[in-house]
Amino acid sequence: MSIEFDTGLLIGGRFEAGQEPGEKVLNPRTGALILDLPEASTDQVDRAVAAARAAFEGWSRATPAERSAALLAIAARIEAEADGFAALEALNCGKPINAARGDELPAVIDCFRFFAGAVRCLHGTIAGEYLAGHTSMIRRDAVGVVASIAPWNYPLMMMAWKLAPAIAGGNTVVFKPSEQTPLTALKLARILAEVLPEGVVNVLPGRGETVGSYLINHPGVDMISLTGDVATGRKMLDAAARTVKRTHLELGGKAPVLVFDDADVSEVVAGLRAFGYYNAGQDCTAACRVYAGRKIHDRLVADLTAAVSTIVLGQADDSTNEIGPLISLRQRDRVASFVERAREQAHIEVTTGGEAMGEGGFYYRPTVIAGARQSDEIVRREVFGPVVSITPFAEVDEAVKWANDSDYGLASSVWTRDVGRAMATAARLRYGCTWINTHFMLVNEMPHGGLKQSGYGKDLSAHSLEDYTVLRHVMIRHG
Ligand code: NAD
Repeated sequence: MSIEFDTGLLIGGRFEAGQEPGEKVLNPRTGALILDLPEASTDQVDRAVAAARAAFEGWSRATPAERSAALLAIAARIEAEADGFAALEALNCGKPINAARGDELPAVIDCFRFFAGAVRCLHGTIAGEYLAGHTSMIRRDAVGVVASIAPWNYPLMMMAWKLAPAIAGGNTVVFKPSEQTPLTALKLARILAEVLPEGVVNVLPGRGETVGSYLINHPGVDMISLTGDVATGRKMLDAAARTVKRTHLELGGKAPVLVFDDADVSEVVAGLRAFGYYNAGQDCTAACRVYAGRKIHDRLVADLTAAVSTIVLGQADDSTNEIGPLISLRQRDRVASFVERAREQAHIEVTTGGEAMGEGGFYYRPTVIAGARQSDEIVRREVFGPVVSITPFAEVDEAVKWANDSDYGLASSVWTRDVGRAMATAARLRYGCTWINTHFMLVNEMPHGGLKQSGYGKDLSAHSLEDYTVLRHVMIRHG
């Protein structure tokens, strides 16, 4: 299929070319250049923020039904062009086309539809008379102009997670995709420009240290929303402190997976093979840090090693690929260096993978690391690649302590046939989400977000709509 690229920045309902030299967008399967995309200048950021401010009065006063209709129209337009969006995402990220088209596009479309419904059910609390002769009521209103900054691992899906609740809630947005993956954002911008009033969403590609930094420090921005790295989150907080902007941060993860001796090993292996390596492990909830009961440990290492060595990638017939390459050479080198440092430890064994593969592209073989200890770097730091470590534990208290002993707090899972143990363990885990006998499953109705340095604020669900709106008290004096 031949693919056409949209390259225009969306500013106040009109498209224009970026004015500064930008990032080269590469094909991760081959390393070849897809596009040399100019990025936004500071003048263009200023005009985008001004357009968002100008649009705020009208959009924030639109009724929920009107905003809902716009979200439904966006969903329908994405659905009509789903094949094109999936092809672009697969090209830009190296994702298998079946994953992009079959998994991500339906979730993106459903996200807009969910928030179209949810915003019509959002209300302040019921009025009451708390001071004699006065009626108080609570309203939920839009925050203002949101600077929304997305990562490269699920470009269109992260755009949906961030835009849908923000615009449903009556905010206007200046959206910056990752400099590595701007293609689907620029395609969606065409649809947004047709469906939404001028200036409600503006889309500016560019690098973090230039466009992103200027945008988050902009005095015309009321709220910063980031999905990205913890270090980037800290920069958002610094920028927010100066003018006391609201922040919504979804940062990294290092998900622990607690496998008890009574777990069904074949289900655990199938689960880890899928949820530890999906999207080549470039997922903040990836099932990457396994703690296994002593009795089950050896079999789990052997069976997982065998299963992971069959993951299909790098095939010319993309319909057979289960995962793709990493996003960039830099990311592949980063993953490789984590594995190399782990391999140097005498107690660690790399039982499968542990090397780059192919020529030109950014592929890394799915890797299992056995014998890892709690203090090892490979257990503690986010690798963001197709690498799963396994650490044996003796008792439940030790497993829970190790699982919680992390700077991250996004996602976790517990695998056991004992429902009491599952519930008791889930209650002790300090993670935004705990799955039992599964991992990775998200639905638009349920909140997604972290604790600790994984950030705060929720994506998805009605709780996300609360994050993108503010509570206001209105008091009426009688007579
Ligand atoms: P990143 O933090 O490097 O970049 C994220 C975005 O921030 C990009 O658009 C980038 O241009 C921008 N940015 C970078 N520096 C900036 C600055 N100084 N000012 C303004 N913007 C700036 O992250 P990444 O490498 O794109 O994505 C991977 C990271 O994202 C991982 O750590 C991963 O765990 C995290 N992530 C988290 C979630 C979640 O829901 N918690 C989801 C996906 C990814």
